[in-house]
Amino acid sequence: MGEIKRHPERGNSQREVIRAILAEGLVAHVGIIDAQGAPVVIPMAYALDGDSILVHGSVASRLMRSAGPICVTVTLLDGLVVARSLFNSSMNYRSVVVTGTPDVLEGDERERALMVLSAFLLPGRVGHSREPSRPEIRQTTVWRLSLAEATAKIRSGPPKEDPASDYELPYWGGVVPVHTTFGAPEPDGAGVSMPVPEHITTMRRGTSD
Ligand SMILES: Cc1cc2nc3c(=O)[nH]c(=O)nc-3n(C[C@H](O)[C@H](O)[C@H](O)COP(=O)(O)OP(=O)(O)OC[C@H]3O[C@@H](n4cnc5c(N)ncnc54)[C@H](O)[C@@H]3O)c2cc1C
Repeated sequence: MGEIKRHPERGNSQREVIRAILAEGLVAHVGIIDAQGAPVVIPMAYALDGDSILVHGSVASRLMRSAGPICVTVTLLDGLVVARSLFNSSMNYRSVVVTGTPDVLEGDERERALMVLSAFLLPGRVGHSREPSRPEIRQTTVWRLSLAEATAKIRSGPPKEDPASDYELPYWGGVVPVHTTFGAPEPDGAGVSMPVPEHITTMRRGTSD
């Protein structure tokens, strides 16, 4: 398990905390060491599935053709922390780092995982869209990464002025909250026109208003 050295009090390796953060996000940053030995970090969609996370991609992508250990980071940005000093200004966040070597899923497991990914990313969509064909499934690599080696880190609350005499300075201090919200659905105008379905109009994520 990774060990947080800076502000370890912000660390949290409780599985429920880790799962709650992962349940709210949509985008993961996946780090690998490429074939030339260089590090590269790629943003990707992911899904939480029990005690693991799933990522998928084209069989042709550099990332999905790589093998070996990976590092997956998910970050929820909750606010900009505006301190009276530039030094103590910060961010409020909840983040998770997961490391390990993913399992490459095959057969029924891969098909099930693709459904889990769809259901996680677009809740209610499975059953209201065409399911993937055999060739589409064959074009897709799916990884499962266990949460066995996962850490969470959380910062919340107002700025912490240090030295405390900074509270006397004639500058504003506080937090500007950051929320993730979905806008009004925009029909593509192609094909049969129909009312926007409820699973689209009611789409929410944890930090949505
Ligand atoms: C939105 C955001 C903005 C940040 N901005 C900065 C910044 O500008 N400068 C800065 O120094 N730090 C920043 N951090 C904190 C940063 O992520 C690290 O926590 C920090 O660099 C200290 O790491 P460390 O030396 O303790 O641990 P490291 O040696 O870097 O990591 C050791 C282990 O600790 C765990 N870990 C470390 N950080 C996190 C984390 N954020 N979430 C979950 N697990 C973690 C991992 O398991 C990792 O393998 C930011 C974090 C977030 C989420």
